[in-house]
Amino acid sequence: MNGRPSRREVLHGIGAAALVGLGCGKARTLRAVHGTYGAVPTKDGAGVSLRRALGSQALRQLDPFLLLDEFKSDDPDAYIKGFPDHPHRGFETVTVMLRGQMQHRDSAGNHGILGPGSVQWMTAGRGIVHSEMPGQRDGAMWGFQLWVNLPARSKMIRPRYQDLGQERILEADLGDARARVLAGRVGNVPGPVEGVVVAPTLLDVTVPEKGRLRLDGLPPTHTVIAYVTEGAARFGDEINATDAGHLAILGPGDTITAEGASRMLLVAGAPIGEPIARRGPFVMNTDAEIAQAYEDYRSGRLVGG
Ligand code: FE
Repeated sequence: MNGRPSRREVLHGIGAAALVGLGCGKARTLRAVHGTYGAVPTKDGAGVSLRRALGSQALRQLDPFLLLDEFKSDDPDAYIKGFPDHPHRGFETVTVMLRGQMQHRDSAGNHGILGPGSVQWMTAGRGIVHSEMPGQRDGAMWGFQLWVNLPARSKMIRPRYQDLGQERILEADLGDARARVLAGRVGNVPGPVEGVVVAPTLLDVTVPEKGRLRLDGLPPTHTVIAYVTEGAARFGDEINATDAGHLAILGPGDTITAEGASRMLLVAGAPIGEPIARRGPFVMNTDAEIAQAYEDYRSGRLVGG
């Protein structure tokens, strides 16, 4: 595109070259791609095939985000065993369903059936045991799970659960793109998920073939990741596209742009900036707290109270 700054100029944020004009007259820096990572095929739960975009050895975490999995298959063998009862402590999980159904049941008495287009937010806090099982025996299943960390002061809060149907999710324009606002706010369009400690932004964005996504207003220092779920997207002034199944880390800046027919999960949040101790289903600040979580789980003290 004409008049757009080079990546180097954006990274250094210098002078007029860093201006992104677009008629707004304000100096704004584009977020450049700092790296792309292919999601890693793996299995979890009782044998669910999934692709791990964040949380693998290749890309351990991006504060405040700990994990991003995609599960997508038409083959029941890939998902039917689900995720039977397992514990969590110290963070929050967000499940986004695009196709198929998942059933959630937890030790706090919550039960929900997540249908296509829905989103579920679960705060594990001081401890929860839950199961996440397919609500279907065949057909397509497509969804995502994101883990969002909790700061030390909130790791032991009481578990919470929100499960929001497709009808609760509003759409917003991002330039030519359309975004389903799952959490956070775009302009005056709020997402339905409320009260999350690390108030993140979570958008399911579709960029049309000849259109351009443009998003302003996210704090420049927020961590931003974009996981491309369909098609391919060119972010900022990148020449190379990020293909479906890849995660792009976007560097600091005021404005996110993307071109190319694509769909993506756009995730943003303020870094917590605390030490992370992590093992299996527990994410705390110290190894001693992890050991305590295992001890509490073994002795039945993880949940309740
Ligand atoms: Fe879980």
